[in-house]
Amino acid sequence: MALIFSEGKDMDLGIKGRWALVCAASKGLGKGCAVALAGEGVNVVITARGTDALEATANEIRAAFPSVQVIAVAGDITTPEGRRTALAACPQVDILVNNAGGPPPGDFRDWDRDAWLKAIDANMLAPIELIKATVDGMAARGFGRVVNITSGAVKAPIDILGLSNGARSGLTGFVAGLARQPRLASANVTINNLLPGWFDTDRVRTTMQAAAAKTGQSAEAMIEKRRAGIPAQRMGRADEFGAMCAFLCSAQAAYLTGQNILLDGGAYPGTF
Ligand code: NAD
Repeated sequence: MALIFSEGKDMDLGIKGRWALVCAASKGLGKGCAVALAGEGVNVVITARGTDALEATANEIRAAFPSVQVIAVAGDITTPEGRRTALAACPQVDILVNNAGGPPPGDFRDWDRDAWLKAIDANMLAPIELIKATVDGMAARGFGRVVNITSGAVKAPIDILGLSNGARSGLTGFVAGLARQPRLASANVTINNLLPGWFDTDRVRTTMQAAAAKTGQSAEAMIEKRRAGIPAQRMGRADEFGAMCAFLCSAQAAYLTGQNILLDGGAYPGTF
């Protein structure tokens, strides 16, 4: 049996030259995943709705990793058109990182059918459509990795995030079954979910500021309070998130499928 590691050598994730479609990747966690994959020599197609931040991120990745190809595709990944354009730009999807903005917080008494359908479209059906478009090709080629960015709220629901709890749990249940299809699992196609706890991204900063404005506290005071409740005593960083994503996409992670990996600095209090 060949050894994966040898003394004095950095770990090679064995995915150099592969193509990844990383959705919603101009900022935050998606960007963290795109950067980490590019750092492993993976060519990336990155998407976001607007062009400015997307082009800036694409140029940043090109400058840092000149040997990889980086294609930026503007479009809303929660629409059929956005998905078509993203898929058409990727010569071959070996790695799919599903991501999109999260639904707004609120009280379920205020949500009508339309609010639910928007959340389900964005955080359940969009990833399922992209999985449907890509996994059989991955299986035919004998390699595929799907990573869905979901949320720690799937494991420990937060009441005001009901739309997220509901839509993402639907995706999680679906993935649990699909990942275990022998025609995928035996063909070296893995599907896993990455569950962010509390990461320092634009979204989190904006949400904290909005919450602070409502309660009259400062955003800093709210951040400090939340920080103190996390065993790691800090927010996570997008590059830490990206590193775990890259590992899930590695050749070495071939036997890891259908799992929910929580990255939360120890915040979830359970044994499992
Ligand atoms: P972010 O706002 O920092 O970045 C979101 C990225 O997604 C941006 O590049 C934005 O342009 C892009 N985007 C948003 N909607 C899109 C769409 N419809 N089509 C294409 N691109 C789109 O957010 P983030 O903190 O990185 O969060 C990413 C996901 O992770 C969200 O669904 C969020 O709810 C979830 N999440 C984040 C945290 C956290 O602590 N940051 C915790 C739990 C869950």
